[in-house]
Amino acid sequence: MQIFLQTVVAGDICGCMIYADYNATAPVRPEAKTAMLAALEVGANPSSVHGPGRAARKLLEQARSQVGIAIGARAQDIIFTSGGTEANALALHGVAAQLEGKCTLLVSAIEHEAVAKNAGYAGVAIETAYVTANGQLDLDWLRERLVKWDQDRDGTPVLALMMANNETGVVQPLSEAAALVREAGGLTHCDAVQGLGKLMVNVGLLGVDYLALSAHKVGGPQGVGALWVRSGASLKPVLFGGGQERSLRSGTENLSGIAGFGAATEAAIRDMPKLQALSVARDAMEAKLISQAGVTVFGAGVERLAQTSNFAIAGFRAETQVMAMDLAGVAVSSGSACSSGKVKRSLVLSAMGVDDDLSESAVRISFGWNTAPRDFDDVAEAWLEAARRTVLKTA
Ligand code: PLP
Repeated sequence: MQIFLQTVVAGDICGCMIYADYNATAPVRPEAKTAMLAALEVGANPSSVHGPGRAARKLLEQARSQVGIAIGARAQDIIFTSGGTEANALALHGVAAQLEGKCTLLVSAIEHEAVAKNAGYAGVAIETAYVTANGQLDLDWLRERLVKWDQDRDGTPVLALMMANNETGVVQPLSEAAALVREAGGLTHCDAVQGLGKLMVNVGLLGVDYLALSAHKVGGPQGVGALWVRSGASLKPVLFGGGQERSLRSGTENLSGIAGFGAATEAAIRDMPKLQALSVARDAMEAKLISQAGVTVFGAGVERLAQTSNFAIAGFRAETQVMAMDLAGVAVSSGSACSSGKVKRSLVLSAMGVDDDLSESAVRISFGWNTAPRDFDDVAEAWLEAARRTVLKTA
């Protein structure tokens, strides 16, 4: 069992021994902490022209190239933001403004609220892009919709499709979808917040136009992110002020956070093979839960993030499981916990056609950079023990 408190945090911040909620936030990596402290020591504004300002600028640009290298992009096409939410907002509002409202946003049914809600406030037409029962974008639906596209009525098609889903880990057919949209004269925005460090991200190969990232999912600090904008894909800013970040995101950059983001991203790319190898332990955990408790694993039939598992057994409500696991020293999340910590019905699972009873029983295990493969088995044992005391006893 991974002793989380000893290896990751210097204080009892969550009172847990196994942290299995990396898709919510990954613990900060040591490399990120070191880089953040070094940036705090500089203590100057990266826009200042004096020596300390130039030292700050150097750290900023180093982080920009670290993030750029991680996604196969030019550093100058990276715009730092306050996180994944702002990066998504900038992309969606910025493209809608750039196109003067003459566009329709095709928003996949499984997008994070950072995309779905920002799309709703972009002031343009929105349509839901459907997913299959496996939780992947329905490419046939997209193809047919684009064939029927009426430029005069619908404007430019703009697809919002995430790289991998935060609840199920299901990887989306991004390059195929982006190619269809491109052929139709449209643009694609990708929320890659859950993809970075877990999947190979190469913006050129993906063929997308905008791509959002967040530091705290890769072991960087919370409150920092980035938007990559393809050279030639225009965008209007949504924040105005000092003209930082090529005037696309005014406001003095969060230098220490960005330095931590850069260092964490570099470490995440280095560690990616180790993370991807977790799929073996994840699959073994799922096989055990299926054979001993008959759980349903969501998205099991398609490619998923190696470190994510979302499963349910009808009648064992998610909040009961989360509490029981917490008491057993395992921090997991209901697939659909909202910011207030309450459990609400998962729109992702609904979009996949999962019935309410099962959906309300879904829990998510998500691991990351400080996970040992055996942690999956410890989680399985803790979950089975909780299930035997409750739902399996009455079965
Ligand atoms: N997009 C996805 C897929 C996420 O999982 C999250 C965070 O949970 C976000 C966007 C929002 O990122 P941030 O917390 O950095 O604003």
